[in-house]
Amino acid sequence: MSGAAAGAEHNPFEQFKKRFDNAAKYLKLDAGLGDILKTPTRELTVAVPVLMDDGTYRVFTGYRVQHNTAIGPAKGGIRYDSKVDIDEVRALAAWMTMKCAVVNVPFGGGKGGIICDPKALSQGELERMTRRYTAAIMDIIGPDKDVPAPDVNTNEQVMAWFMDTYSMHVRQATTAVVTGKPIGLGGSAGRSAATGRGVLATLECAAAVKKMKLKGAKVAIQGFGNVGGWAATLIAEQGAKIVAVSDIQGAIHNPQGLDVAKLHAHVKATKSVVGFKGSKPLDADKLVEVECDVLVPAATENVITAKNAKNVKAKIIVEGANGPTTADADAILDDKGVLVCPDILANAGGVTVSYFEWVQDRMGYFWDEERVNKELVQKMQKAFAEVHATAEQYKTNMRTAAYIVAVDRVASVTKKRGLYA
Ligand code: GLU
Repeated sequence: MSGAAAGAEHNPFEQFKKRFDNAAKYLKLDAGLGDILKTPTRELTVAVPVLMDDGTYRVFTGYRVQHNTAIGPAKGGIRYDSKVDIDEVRALAAWMTMKCAVVNVPFGGGKGGIICDPKALSQGELERMTRRYTAAIMDIIGPDKDVPAPDVNTNEQVMAWFMDTYSMHVRQATTAVVTGKPIGLGGSAGRSAATGRGVLATLECAAAVKKMKLKGAKVAIQGFGNVGGWAATLIAEQGAKIVAVSDIQGAIHNPQGLDVAKLHAHVKATKSVVGFKGSKPLDADKLVEVECDVLVPAATENVITAKNAKNVKAKIIVEGANGPTTADADAILDDKGVLVCPDILANAGGVTVSYFEWVQDRMGYFWDEERVNKELVQKMQKAFAEVHATAEQYKTNMRTAAYIVAVDRVASVTKKRGLYA
């Protein structure tokens, strides 16, 4: 649930502002500067008319929000979902500003979305919708302005259509206008696994803090898309037991550990984790409360709330999703001593490799996967160490510390640039 109607605890942009204000207090940030940094720079709403396969026309609503571009071009994904709304896109764009600053990549924050049910659209309809949306936001995007990427329900094929449409308009192949593209079309090795790999790198750092061994640790993962699916594979490779996973259709559980490779094959064949042999069904709402050492919410917003936070059993939470924990839940998890690795740190692996992809596109020189993975892990470890040291310095939790690091970086660049008037 998202949007203003759901109330402040579930309104992601209100949540962002709350966390920002909290960090600003620690930094004694000027209130006016805080207003500048919280307010989205540009918001575009576009009509996306599409010729459907049955010959009728339908008009979808699309958004692109550029939250902040003080440090560099806006950067962030495009989401296709029926729950997309402007406050959600605003929050997701603002989180991108914070995320890029935490891992210190020279981008600002942006996000886009189209209100639609992509599962109800054919490939042809998806392609026409993507191309028309790209054309509609043409004026504000570009390699030096705003660089989209995949997000919920978009993938490398969508990015390829996006790149092609933009390139046809500007009359030259422009790979760096979007990241998350297929390899061979300007995509980077290691990009599809990058968010999951970043989740693992964050978990390894967090486990060291908590003196927890990953071998044999019980891990529950909410979401089995690109982020959750890769996180499951990579975390299981470290000898951890993946005891529960879920997707949009339901959840499954096996306290002895699920066979992740077989689970991927099952999902490929049936399109869901549900019904996997060697597992018992689990109430999807109960996944975050399952008995485990590590919880990886890797689906959507507002799943750990004031209502269920007290029932969380995990000692470490690694937020693969954007905005999975509400601000009210943060306090409850703190009281319980749970180490929460916040989204703007924990899921920054995706945008980090997007940055590498953009750099490679502009150089026209491509790295091998080993280099991508090595530089990704180095960046994640450095960001974790900085956030952790900040948490110790200010005697606060990792979320507030991550915001302190990010807000400080964007504020100091903004001050140095000065205000154009
Ligand atoms: N959609 C991803 C995120 O939320 C990736 C964004 C990007 O690579 O620009 O971080």
